[in-house]
Amino acid sequence: MKCSFCGYSFAIDEGENACGSCPLTGNCHLIRCPHCGYEMPPEAKLVRWFRNLKRKKENRSTLIKDSTR
Ligand SMILES: [Zn+2]
Repeated sequence: MKCSFCGYSFAIDEGENACGSCPLTGNCHLIRCPHCGYEMPPEAKLVRWFRNLKRKKENRSTLIKDSTR
């Protein structure tokens, strides 16, 4: 994946290992860039998931509008 802060591209495993040394929890589910140390949520899976949810809701609202006509 690519760091959204400095643009450094690295393997997800590499970022997870970097976060494994987190002093607070050691498992905070964030990917840390091995280059600049910036922590970010893992990849865009969540973003895609949210987009799908939005699409489903939009589809439902359009269906309801059509049925009320
Ligand atoms: Zn970075």
